[in-house]
Amino acid sequence: MIKTVGVLTSGGDAPGMNAAIRAVVRTGIAMDLRVMGIYQGYQGLINGEIKELTLRSVSDTLQRGGTFLQSARCKAFMTEKGVKSAIEVAKVFGMDAIVVIGGDGSFRGARELSRMGMTVVGIPGTIDNDIDCTDYTIGYDTAMNTAMEAIDKIRDTASSHQRCSIVEVMGRGAGHIALSVSIANGAEAVIVPEKEYSIDEDIVKPIFECRNRGKNHYIIILAEGVGKADEIASAIHQKTGIDARVSILGYIQRGGSPTARDRIEASRMGAHAVEILAKGCDSRIVALKDGMITDIPIEEALQMKKEISKSDLALTKVLSL
Ligand code: ADP
Repeated sequence: MIKTVGVLTSGGDAPGMNAAIRAVVRTGIAMDLRVMGIYQGYQGLINGEIKELTLRSVSDTLQRGGTFLQSARCKAFMTEKGVKSAIEVAKVFGMDAIVVIGGDGSFRGARELSRMGMTVVGIPGTIDNDIDCTDYTIGYDTAMNTAMEAIDKIRDTASSHQRCSIVEVMGRGAGHIALSVSIANGAEAVIVPEKEYSIDEDIVKPIFECRNRGKNHYIIILAEGVGKADEIASAIHQKTGIDARVSILGYIQRGGSPTARDRIEASRMGAHAVEILAKGCDSRIVALKDGMITDIPIEEALQMKKEISKSDLALTKVLSL
């Protein structure tokens, strides 16, 4: 029987994490559980930065970006000693289970906690949408919309000056944000880490083709995991004579008020995490599959690798003509 649940956010922050924490707290209290907020991820667990959260602790958080519990990357937790001391501290605060909101790194940490006897449930929170067991991760929608609005603005000025803009978007090793915004912004080309590219074939040739069809400005979306934005810009200038400028969108994509979709999915996922803990489930990741909230074993989730959508890659090519 679970009586006290801890909740933490770990790894890269993502808009909507607050909505997930709020749902964990309010669902937990509605089910007569105590909910403890663990500040600064696994680091805060080791350090005992923990306090009880009440219904009012999560008031006025739903619409805020970031995570009010704060997040951290914790090297000490990557060792057996670190995980053991985290479990000792969890026991001091009477925690029977911990909800971990984060990306796949955070889930590997949660698996270690589980292997040492702590009951855990993970909620996918990362703007990168790179977790295969779920169709959606908290923060992805907000990040896409932030990037899309910024790229619209970049296109205005690229158009006025008949330029090529190379826009680097976030996603770490994954190209999902890049591919999605390339459709949303009608990019002339997109380069993602999941697919090999050649500057001539995938960038210069499409620019020539677009120019021959009457276009006079170009947006190339580059995923962060590819890098080389400056190299690509100078190759474009050298081979086409078109002025090419680089914009790296960076951390603005991680901030901002979460969109409706992020708030809603995060709320559903937070509630589901507590409901399955109360039913006695352990070592699971909450997921959105085919529009339904479900959950799968952590071990299984960590073995899966998300592919990039080949049909969306093909779509960008057709739509950019
Ligand atoms: P994300 O959760 O966004 O993928 P990271 O990969 O940085 O972010 O992971 C967040 C934290 O999870 C790390 O700083 C570390 O404390 C913990 N973590 C990651 N991998 C492991 C592992 N193999 N064992 C234990 N803890 C881990």
